[in-house]
Amino acid sequence: MTSVDNGLSPHGGTLVQRVQPLRSAGDVAGWPTIEVREQIAHECVNLAYGFFSPLTGFMGSADVASVADNMRLASGYVWPIPIVLDVPDAELTQAGVAAGDSILLTHQGNPLATLDVTEIFAADLSDLAGKVYGTTDPDHPGVQRTLNYANRFVAGDITLVCEPVISPPFDRYWRTPAQLRSELDELGWQRAVAHQTRNVPHSGHEYLMKGAFMEAQADGVLVSAVIGEKKVGDYIDEAIVLTHENLRTHGFFRDGIHRTTALLWDMRYAGPREAVFHALVRKNLGCTHHMFGRDHAGVGDYYGRYAAHEIFDDLPDLGIRSVLTLEWWYCPTCGGVAYEGICGHPDTKQDLAGRLIRSIIDGGAEPAPQTLRAETLALVRQCADEYGFGSPFVTEQYLSERTPVLTIPPAPV
Ligand SMILES: [Zn+2]
Repeated sequence: MTSVDNGLSPHGGTLVQRVQPLRSAGDVAGWPTIEVREQIAHECVNLAYGFFSPLTGFMGSADVASVADNMRLASGYVWPIPIVLDVPDAELTQAGVAAGDSILLTHQGNPLATLDVTEIFAADLSDLAGKVYGTTDPDHPGVQRTLNYANRFVAGDITLVCEPVISPPFDRYWRTPAQLRSELDELGWQRAVAHQTRNVPHSGHEYLMKGAFMEAQADGVLVSAVIGEKKVGDYIDEAIVLTHENLRTHGFFRDGIHRTTALLWDMRYAGPREAVFHALVRKNLGCTHHMFGRDHAGVGDYYGRYAAHEIFDDLPDLGIRSVLTLEWWYCPTCGGVAYEGICGHPDTKQDLAGRLIRSIIDGGAEPAPQTLRAETLALVRQCADEYGFGSPFVTEQYLSERTPVLTIPPAPV
């Protein structure tokens, strides 16, 4: 497959594509092998298809230090979050892995990617967490993830040796950056504005998208749904992608101006740094603009309400423009969804945040149509029955029994 040039340059100028399927399992017979967890498998896929351009593999110590200290790769390109492969020292010894080796990464027991090891190194995880997340509080989920890393990082370029199979219903939304760029080109989207989501869209999200579409004078809105590690109480992944598409199929966005796609990524909740990361990935998907509302990719009160807006002032070379929006809320006095920057009744506004609506849905009462569309609610309930074991929210049963989003088939014999 060739990369399509629709005038929207990937980060670093070239879309990375490192995919070379095995002809047979014999190609990698006897190679030192490391089995990787789901997060790492997703990141191998992202690296190989160019979601993470210009990265071609897992970072070495120079890039990790530079990203942590300066939010840039050693090459100078903006990059906010370390992309690393952590492996316990004992496992490396057992597999016989050393710098200079080519090794095989497997997932679900099957060959996924090869990695040309350039460096094996250790890092001060607490120091790394403090620089990336602005806190070393172990209650912060990103800090916790960092502190839980194994004690060695393995760096080097990766090549995907097996293309993953994406399960329904996500297969309808799965596009590699090259495929998506080609699709946006066919749609004629010269200006595409990205919407990051992990939610079923309530009216606030819908107006956020509509407002950003108008502000960017965009040709279309790309909904990029983050599919990855879930915790109990989150919306189930299936409901997120299907309800976003549902806004288009019911004409709340006319056909040619709205598309939904899936991004395999475990949220780090790094607030402003994660906002920059989201912008770069969507730039690689072919977007010219990215919308950022209140508390983007934050958690708890670690970051200011609009911290993700301020960080872009320092990054003139990001290469994708940010569309910064305030909150959309429900105002009974205005009689509908109103904008923080316009509505003069902040004392009587009603929060549209997911939590509120979730409690309404969980309680069985119908949310007001001004807060959640009836078409959305009906589909959320259908998804609960079809995919969620009766709930639109993640439960322990969903976590243990759901169909995996990605499977790696065995290599040809
Ligand atoms: Zn008002």
